Amino acid sequence: MIHLAMADLPPFTPTPLEAIPAVHARVVAKFHTHTTRPLAYRLKQLRTLYWALKDAEPALLAACAQDLGKSAYETYLMELGWQLNDILFVCKNLQRWMKEERAPDTSLLNLAMRPRIRKDPLGAVLIIGAYNFPLMLSLGPLVGAIAAGCTAVLKPSESAPHAARVLQHVIEQALDPEGYAVVQGAVAETTALLARKWDKIFYTGGVAVGTIVARKAAETLTPVALELGGRNPAIVTRNADPRLAARRLLWAKLVNAGQVCVSQNYILVDAEILPRFLAELAIALAEFFPDGARHSASYARIINLRQWQRLVALLASTDGTILLGGETDEQTLFIAPTVIQLSSPLDPLLQQETFGPLLPILPVPDLPTAIATANTIHATPLAIYPFGTPAETSLILSSTRSGGASINDAFFHASIPTLPFGGVGDSGTGAYRGRASFDCFSHRRSVTTTPAWVERLLAVRYPPYTAAKLAQV
Ligand code: NAD
Repeated sequence: MIHLAMADLPPFTPTPLEAIPAVHARVVAKFHTHTTRPLAYRLKQLRTLYWALKDAEPALLAACAQDLGKSAYETYLMELGWQLNDILFVCKNLQRWMKEERAPDTSLLNLAMRPRIRKDPLGAVLIIGAYNFPLMLSLGPLVGAIAAGCTAVLKPSESAPHAARVLQHVIEQALDPEGYAVVQGAVAETTALLARKWDKIFYTGGVAVGTIVARKAAETLTPVALELGGRNPAIVTRNADPRLAARRLLWAKLVNAGQVCVSQNYILVDAEILPRFLAELAIALAEFFPDGARHSASYARIINLRQWQRLVALLASTDGTILLGGETDEQTLFIAPTVIQLSSPLDPLLQQETFGPLLPILPVPDLPTAIATANTIHATPLAIYPFGTPAETSLILSSTRSGGASINDAFFHASIPTLPFGGVGDSGTGAYRGRASFDCFSHRRSVTTTPAWVERLLAVRYPPYTAAKLAQV
């Protein structure tokens, strides 16, 4: 194994705008050779990518530490290790997924036509990544595109430049350069990419840019997968276990310093259980960071000054009471895990996606109020986390909408490769992960074959439409 070091890599450099049309043309031309379709080609790309990622592991972990202050343990647990397992899962199952599906027969005549569904690659696709999980949000869709037999251009997030550099190196080393390419850059480069005609655009990021992507794609009727954000609620009923709920939800807010699209944005807590829940939050926080989060190597930092300033302004805008945390440090882009008790569902902290370690808690008198409040704040969040009895959590699911849900926990529904991960409504469209990533970049192509021998039966379809023929049908 040859380990790659960050120092071996060239600095982050945006791709020249004039080079982008040729990159696009190259992956489109490669797709039209049809050589990316065989199973053997796809598996070779995926296996080489797997081993290149293993070789680059130290550099990938170091890059995420530089971009987000993430510990190596958290990067491995939450994205790199997970992504490697996802590649293995895809390799193991790909042949089965690629097989034609026989469609159920509805009549003897249909049976003769052998109705079936092919899984064809969509073509040359564009993948635009976000910064918060810079490895997984780029590699996850790329693995799906390769598995489906597509060619692809990846545009990683410029906000995580170290991860973007290592990704480019790994992809250029591991994958067929005719079929797969990385374009680096920000708005100008993404705009140039969006100006080309793709067979699918896979975008992860905020709603504002997602709208730009969808509008541009609509001009050429290009299908999109949009993995967006949302104001995700957690609901803790009076019958929930306050200790479990507090520990699990605090962790879900502190991973990556809260820069997680599936973190809960706020918690609606039944007033009856609130004092015990708040006490358990304080206990868990002290247990997770015995010397304080600022001095803990297990606690990440905010990605950049712009996002840090946004979060500090958001914290200043609340009418709530800070119960825990509240400390900030511009030099190190630190924001302490901060628990804020709110008194109104109209508080500014509930009007936008926090995307940071701010944990607003709104007490509610009962479960119906919690459900109504969650539905009013955001009707279609990316995730919802109900904590309570089976009857209560089932009522929450049947009275709300969300991309996914983890009951009595957070995140789990997003981590299982047999579950599609995606949003609903304005938290996203389309899904991926494991099998769903293959489906996301495949076209289910319906096919029949009409044998010559049925011609006698089919002759009834040809004009002239005589009364004798009418009698036969
Ligand atoms: P972002 O929308 O700012 O940027 C994402 C990508 O869009 C980047 O690659 C960036 O270069 C590009 N971009 C930015 N401005 C653009 C423009 N004007 N035109 C074209 N392209 C442009 O998102 P972000 O700040 O990197 O990520 C945070 C957001 O992403 C949050 O809202 C979060 O909820 C969401 N997110 C969603 C998921 C999911 O799976 N649903 C995962 C992670 C993050």
